[in-house]
Amino acid sequence: MSHFNFDLFVIGGGSGGVRTARMTAQRGVRVALAEALGTDGLGGTCVNVGCIPKKLYSYAAHYAEAFEESQGYGWESPAPTFNWATLKANRTKEIARLNGVYANLLSGSGVTVINGFAQLQDAHTVRVATLNADGSPGHQTLTAERILIATGGTPHVPHFQGHEHVITSNEVFDLEPFPKRLLVVGGGYIACEFASIFNGLGAQVTQLYRGEQILRGFDDEVRHFLAGEMRKHGVDLRLNAGVVCIQREADGLHVLLEDGNRLVVDAALYATGRVPNVAGLGLEAVGVAQGPQGAIVVDEHHRTNVPGIYAIGDVTARMQLTPVALGEAMKLVDHLYGPPAGRPARSMSYDLVPTAVFTHPNVGTVGLTEAEARERFGHVTVFRSEFRALKHTLSGSQERTLMKLVVDTASDRVVGLHMVGADAGEIVQGFAVAMKAGATKAVFDSTIGIHPTAAEEFVTMREPVTPPAP
Ligand code: FAD
Ligand code: NDP
Repeated sequence: MSHFNFDLFVIGGGSGGVRTARMTAQRGVRVALAEALGTDGLGGTCVNVGCIPKKLYSYAAHYAEAFEESQGYGWESPAPTFNWATLKANRTKEIARLNGVYANLLSGSGVTVINGFAQLQDAHTVRVATLNADGSPGHQTLTAERILIATGGTPHVPHFQGHEHVITSNEVFDLEPFPKRLLVVGGGYIACEFASIFNGLGAQVTQLYRGEQILRGFDDEVRHFLAGEMRKHGVDLRLNAGVVCIQREADGLHVLLEDGNRLVVDAALYATGRVPNVAGLGLEAVGVAQGPQGAIVVDEHHRTNVPGIYAIGDVTARMQLTPVALGEAMKLVDHLYGPPAGRPARSMSYDLVPTAVFTHPNVGTVGLTEAEARERFGHVTVFRSEFRALKHTLSGSQERTLMKLVVDTASDRVVGLHMVGADAGEIVQGFAVAMKAGATKAVFDSTIGIHPTAAEEFVTMREPVTPPAP
């Protein structure tokens, strides 16, 4: 038995931390996990203020168009009204249920959960600020052979006159009252998703993005196509646009824009990126190396420069996605404690990570953009299909769908697959498996479609947009 209190001490009860703690404890290792927000924080960003509540709100917003579209299919009813309080209350209940599920999973695996903010004292010691039984502040000092930092990220808002009036994605879920006029600043995942959600829920949404086109890093056609669809849905998307200052007045927030125009809104959501959550962790004192914006620097085995201290997930600022944090957790556990008998150690690759943006309509993507593929392979063949989904022939909706395949001409391998359209995330997940397996365009062509679906387009695109290289 080692002289440490625990074999592994995990700081942070989010996606990465919970998965690591649970899987490690299942191997008979003594594990503790500290979560600053206590049981209410278990599940981290994804469960409490990220993926899950966001997707629930996205479902809520989709009903608005579903009610409208149903009329073309013969459904007649008075226009339904939306109750924001009901949505918030039901979401709160569901998230509390999930917090409980996480707490049970941890205790059932034998993890010691400590409610409190953890700070490193040295490479093997953590001080957790806790509350005593009478509610007064206390602390516990605990030692462990290894420490894992999985403290995630936090929203970043730029400094400008009136920045104190804006909210971030942390506050948006509980806005009171419902913002009839919402300003969204940013052009990334969160800005686009919430612009779509609140537009769907009935708000008048103005979205400002500082660059030429939203979703920098995504395929250019996808970016342009999505921008067009979001505008069709009613989002007032303004490009090359920004805020000078914001003032609170009796009738709302008065926003002065860089082009001299003014807006009056009920709330301003800044979705201008997230930074690693490292404040107060004690990294400097222990000498843990940090990169831009404080991100913890790790090697391929998630080791920091301090022996015994590891980091995974958003705090390392690689790909800020829940499945990536989970993948890193499982790889780390196998690396440190070995895989269960009968299966090889898990690996984790950052290539071909599929992702979806839950805008209206959704974006789903895996692999390279056309521009990246051209740079990497020289000659690429592109297949594209753009159409009005069958559903909308009767629904009356003008929404269109885009599907695109990027093929390395020399090897015939499909290296990029992109979609803007209903359920793009659901559709792209399966194609990501095919692409991981190295599927060529010939394999796509030889696959029989499922008719009538939108997804079948991916296996029936025959005519390239760009001809193969000679
Ligand atoms: P987190 O889940 O952030 O967990 C970190 C935990 O550490 C937190 O609970 C925090 O309270 C705790 N903590 C911090 N410091 C301390 C300390 N010193 N002591 C103790 N505890 C501490 N990803 C997707 O894949 N799909 C999506 O649809 C998606 N939607 C998102 C929507 C929004 C609005 C946001 C903000 C994010 C979204 N993400 C999505 C990203 C995803 O939530 C993150 O990538 C993921 O949660 C990262 O997991 P993590 O374990 O690194 O950190
Ligand atoms: P992103 O990095 O995706 O986007 C940030 C946006 O804010 C960019 O458009 C950026 O512009 C802009 N921006 C940055 N700084 C400023 C500034 N000072 N003034 C004006 N605009 C600025 O971050 P998000 O906050 O949207 O999301 C964080 C991460 O969370 C995502 O990258 C993603 O990994 C994850 N996430 C995943 C989701 C999913 O899987 N569906 C959903 C939500 C979040 P520019 O492009 O010019 O730099």
